[in-house]
Amino acid sequence: MEGLLTRCRALPALATCNHQLSGYLPRRFPHCAPGRRKRLVLSCLFQPQNLREDQVLPLEGRSGDLTCKSQRLMLQVGLIHPASSGCYHLLPYTVRAMEKLVRVIDQEMQAIGGQKVNMPSLSPAELWRASNRWDLMGKELLRLRDRHGKEYCLGPTHEEAITALVASQKTLSYKQLPFLLYQVTRKFRDEPRPRFGLLRGREFYMKDMYTFDSSPEAARQTYSLVCDAYSSLFDRLGLRCVKVQADVGSIGGTMSHEFQLPVEIGEDRFAVCTSCSFSANVETLDSSQMICPACQGPLTETKGIEVGHTFYLGTKYSSIFNAQFINVHGKPSLAEMGCYGLGVTRILAAAIEVLSTEDCIRWPSLLAPYQVCLIPRRRAVRKRRLQSSWGSSVSHVTAAAALLHCLTLLDSKEQLTLKNLGKGVQKSTYTYVQTLVKTVIEPTPHFQSRCYSTGGGVDLPDEGSYPLITPVHSLSKVFQFQMA
Ligand SMILES: [Zn+2]
Repeated sequence: MEGLLTRCRALPALATCNHQLSGYLPRRFPHCAPGRRKRLVLSCLFQPQNLREDQVLPLEGRSGDLTCKSQRLMLQVGLIHPASSGCYHLLPYTVRAMEKLVRVIDQEMQAIGGQKVNMPSLSPAELWRASNRWDLMGKELLRLRDRHGKEYCLGPTHEEAITALVASQKTLSYKQLPFLLYQVTRKFRDEPRPRFGLLRGREFYMKDMYTFDSSPEAARQTYSLVCDAYSSLFDRLGLRCVKVQADVGSIGGTMSHEFQLPVEIGEDRFAVCTSCSFSANVETLDSSQMICPACQGPLTETKGIEVGHTFYLGTKYSSIFNAQFINVHGKPSLAEMGCYGLGVTRILAAAIEVLSTEDCIRWPSLLAPYQVCLIPRRRAVRKRRLQSSWGSSVSHVTAAAALLHCLTLLDSKEQLTLKNLGKGVQKSTYTYVQTLVKTVIEPTPHFQSRCYSTGGGVDLPDEGSYPLITPVHSLSKVFQFQMA
């Protein structure tokens, strides 16, 4: 518990993401000699699919009733597989993308002093009765009993649990505050009508942060710090989110904002002022009020997906659970709280929803499960000369790719024609696709990769000049950060 109370504001070293698999690759995949661990062979993997629309089973709504583009593409390509209504198996590509997303979230949260915790999903009913939310949450709460008849819910959020945890720290001093505690865990909500795949499920991943400050002023500072971290996160992902004033709902508190990603299938509606920076969820406005309360200018309405939500809670929960600290005068005082959510699985699906074409999945560059896909040209590979230098060519590209902090995928489905291979690859979303042709074994090898985010080509230069790689990329800012 000592560790929990230690404050750390240091930004952790930038994590690279190219080695999670390296530990077991050499044993499991004979093609990957120890020196070439950053390469995977696609045919050895749980295969990405390429299903027709009528071949996928959504398991929600009526049969065959696919509710949005991201759900359809994720099912077709084999990123998710339905398990039960509102619940999906996340398949390997999705898990890789999610791990990358969690890493970016960790960077942003830890840069503002966040410390990661992990609380149980089983949440005892007495905590929820204390805050009166056992009744207030109604049917949304998934409830269960253990063999002793003790009641629990599967946590949709953890204000009660974290406040009780902090309240258990009896000798908390104002000098230790603020605390910013967060976790990335599964959450549960008994949705009446799960839909849109990962956008509105019954079991999903959320990042939830809870902050504890010694005064309302300090809590407001923390609030804007976290909001800025959210903006920075969405900027890095290349997602243009709008921060809007929001209703506090069943969470409570006195101030709240949502981070909305504008998209037509979004279930939230928000209004934006065309002449000043005012924006708000329409729930917070009078139904007739389409005039900006700040400047009286006209408001325009947009649909959005809520990908983040922030609340300034004040002492609503700290007063219930008696979460106190010793203030500067040596007297016990209630902690000022905030809570901050990010829909982790929802961000993955929402990003696919806004970035993809009707046929091809596009990820934010930071999240693409694999950055580079190598495709051997079948006819060329058959030629002995190319075959002998095949290994070194692959290593060459792999080395370049390693500088982009990515794991290279070697597509070796030689039974497929290049055309079909290309189709599958294009659909399933690598940032770069490298077709290995004759030029890679010339005395000065030349690699021309295709960047599927922009449709443009990018040169991977010869060894020695890799740091000069400057991809032609719509998210070049993001990319440079990755290489830093
Ligand atoms: Zn205005």
